[in-house]
Amino acid sequence: MEWLNLPLADWSVRYYPRGARVSGAESVARLVPEEDELLADHERLRRIVVRFFPGRPAQMLYLHWSNGADLNALDQSVAAGAAGKEEFSGALPAQATSIRCQACGASSRVVMATPGTPFFDDETERLRTHRYIEKCPNCDVRWTVNVLEIVPTGGTRIRREQATGGLRSPSCAMRTTVTTSTVPHNDGAGAPNRGSPLRRSVVSVREPVSSPRRGCRRQ
Ligand SMILES: [Zn+2]
Repeated sequence: MEWLNLPLADWSVRYYPRGARVSGAESVARLVPEEDELLADHERLRRIVVRFFPGRPAQMLYLHWSNGADLNALDQSVAAGAAGKEEFSGALPAQATSIRCQACGASSRVVMATPGTPFFDDETERLRTHRYIEKCPNCDVRWTVNVLEIVPTGGTRIRREQATGGLRSPSCAMRTTVTTSTVPHNDGAGAPNRGSPLRRSVVSVREPVSSPRRGCRRQ
């Protein structure tokens, strides 16, 4: 199955149903072919490609559900042109990115929510009610970013870094360094103004960074 055209809010989105591959015929920002293959059959997310601004590259994004939505049925609805607001009511826009846990130094490739992606007016409520992977699987300390999935690269590519520099005494403040970030949001170039122009992917601090020792506890 090829990609399907999906109108989403004011945008024309390429929707990739289960198993479809994002073609390399055109430059797609943030596309990692191996990742695309790994996530093509995922039961909680669907891949989309959208061009927010003329003249800029289309980019790879994800829609993620944590409410048990039947995405195979969604594929059929989109193919039939019958998917509306209801079908996407549980979806949260996301992108793949690399994060590093500052408590233990483990790096993870994750799919993370991207607040400010201009698809859904009730984004705040979606962010509040969505379910996340809350803790680093390596050290069990809470992450401060909204991680939706860990990309299963041959058994979760997490590496514990050797104790060097700041890692010698791990920061238990649990700030997670986001090495790549942001969707190029609305810059006013002819598109509706929704949300702030640019919002980083780090969206919530679940624990106060001022209490580092407490943050070291396992929960
Ligand atoms: Zn960790």
